[in-house]
Amino acid sequence: MAEPILICTDLDRTLLPNGPQPESADARRRFRTLVEHQEIQLVYVTGRDQQLVLNAMLMYQLPQPEYVIADVGTTIYRIDADGEWTAVQEWQQQIDRNWNGYSRQQLAELIHQRDLRLQEPSKQNLHKLSYYVPLKAKQQNISAAIQTVFQQHGIQASLIWSIDEPNGIGLLDIVPASASKFHAIEFLLQWLQLNPSQCVFCGDSGNDMEVLLSPLNSVLVANSSAAIQQMARAGVSQQGLEPSLYIATGDFLGMNGFYSAGMLEGIAHFFPHTYDWMQIS
Ligand SMILES: [Mg+2]
Repeated sequence: MAEPILICTDLDRTLLPNGPQPESADARRRFRTLVEHQEIQLVYVTGRDQQLVLNAMLMYQLPQPEYVIADVGTTIYRIDADGEWTAVQEWQQQIDRNWNGYSRQQLAELIHQRDLRLQEPSKQNLHKLSYYVPLKAKQQNISAAIQTVFQQHGIQASLIWSIDEPNGIGLLDIVPASASKFHAIEFLLQWLQLNPSQCVFCGDSGNDMEVLLSPLNSVLVANSSAAIQQMARAGVSQQGLEPSLYIATGDFLGMNGFYSAGMLEGIAHFFPHTYDWMQIS
C-alpha cells in the first residue's frame, strides 16, 4: 500500500454544493470513488455539530469519514466502521488547559455585556460558549471587555464572530484559544503519526484561512469569493508559502472547479497519483 493521505475538508460550500454556483454532475461521485481507496483517510472539519454533520452526510450522500473535527474545532470525533462516534479525550484535555480550570458556565458568569444573549443549550458544549448579538452591537468593545476579564483570570480564549444571515442576527462563539480548525488538524496529524506532507486541506471561506495560510497543503475551491482568494494569495506570498496553496480554476476532468470538483483538482495537484483513483465508469 502506498503512503496514507489524510484529506481534511470543510463541509459547507466546500464538499457540500450549498452555495449559488452549480455543481458539476459527477464531482461528488468521483470524490466518493477516490475516498474508497484504502490509502485515503477522510476528515470533515466544520463548524457544524454532530447532528448537523449527520444531516449533511445523509442529505448529500457523503462518504463516512474516519474523523470529524466539529463545533469550530472544539471537538474531535473518531468514527468507527459501525458509524459509532467517540470524542477524542486527549483533545478535550489539551484545549481545556486554555480555560485555566474554568468551566463554560463559570466563563459565562464572568461576562457582563447587556448586548449578549445566551444561545440555546443545544448550541453550547463543554468548550463552546455561544451568544446571540444584535448586528448593531459594537463587536470591538465587547471583545476588548471580555478579553480584559479573561486575562485577569488567566483564561486564553478565541472570540469568533459570525452572522446568521437568514435570521439577521450576530453570533459570538467563545472557545479555547487552541481550539481552531488548524490546531485540531495538527493534533490529529501527530496523534496518527502522519507527516504533514501526507495531508491536504480543502476550504472556501474566512474560517478556513488559518489552515489555508499554514504550511499544510491546502486547496481553495473555485466558488470561493475573489476577496478570499486574494487574501489567501497575499497571505501565503508574505510567508513564502506559495507552493502550499492551490486555488482551483476548473477545467479538470471536464468539471467546473466548484465544491468537490475543486477539491479533486487540488488533491490531484498535490498527489498526482490519485488522478487514477478519481475515474468513474
Ligand atoms: Mg465553508
